[in-house]
Amino acid sequence: MARYIGPVCRLCRTEQKKLFLKGDRCKSDKCPMNKKRLPPGKAPKSRMGKKSEYAVQLREKQTLKRAYGLLETQFRNAFEKALSMPGKTGENLFILLERRLDNVVYRMHLATSRAQARQLVNHGHISVNGKRVDIASYLVKTGDSVAVIGAAKKLELIKNALQEVGKSGTMPWVEINPDEMVGRLAAYPHRQDITDMLDIREQLVVELYSK
Ligand code: SF4
Repeated sequence: MARYIGPVCRLCRTEQKKLFLKGDRCKSDKCPMNKKRLPPGKAPKSRMGKKSEYAVQLREKQTLKRAYGLLETQFRNAFEKALSMPGKTGENLFILLERRLDNVVYRMHLATSRAQARQLVNHGHISVNGKRVDIASYLVKTGDSVAVIGAAKKLELIKNALQEVGKSGTMPWVEINPDEMVGRLAAYPHRQDITDMLDIREQLVVELYSK
């Protein structure tokens, strides 16, 4: 599957937000966003004009897309699917993004970043309801069980990532048994529960794609 392979910290600098794309490094002093950095190629604020409505909407879309590690076509497809669902499109979009298998693996703390979670999935280390699934965009359903399988249970990176369960717990819609490396999607998330994305204004994304 196609994926972004450029420098990821640059994406955070562009959006001027921590997107947590590099796992443990993002929480350490090594994160370049801890220092005041201008977006790549940008003039100082005093020389920048007011952003247009389109520019604001575009940045919001790029931030959300990059936080979940998607390329434009993948993100657009998710949006079209959200649009066809009953209810609010922005909230539907979040539910679809959160239901992606790579994201669920990340939320269960089986990986320290979505990129790492995607690699685990792509390499066939993850099962859903007992069946190996190697498609990162696979949509997990409520009640589905997600597990690490085979030799991957010995991987230090998974054991290290699982330590986060004891430190910060998990999001309310996922459950994990760290000893067994088995988790469950207990429910679909409510928008207000996605606390690390509260500053995203998904309505702007809807407005952008509705033009
Ligand atoms: Fe973003 Fe993480 Fe890099 Fe910091 S370390 S700039 S949060 S990807």
